[in-house]
Amino acid sequence: MLAYKAAWNHRRLVKVDRFFPSSKTCHRCGHRQPLDLSDRRWRCAGCGKEHDRDPNAAINLLVEGLRILAAGSAESLNAKGGNVRLAKVSSSR
Ligand SMILES: [Zn+2]
Repeated sequence: MLAYKAAWNHRRLVKVDRFFPSSKTCHRCGHRQPLDLSDRRWRCAGCGKEHDRDPNAAINLLVEGLRILAAGSAESLNAKGGNVRLAKVSSSR
């Protein structure tokens, strides 16, 4: 569904590994905090920042997606959800 919507809107979809610790990593300092699923809010033991679980995870996923794009190793999906490789642009004319 996301691949279809991204293609429809001429956007690129970047997949982040399903085991990426987006919820339990502090987006401010990078500390990883053990959490239960019921922990909706938590205070980082590394920097003291109080987090709401979902917005913190969203920020971490955005940063990770941008990191993957910048590294040039993004796994992009076509409209049917299949993997496609990014075409290399030739600089010679
Ligand atoms: Zn922190």
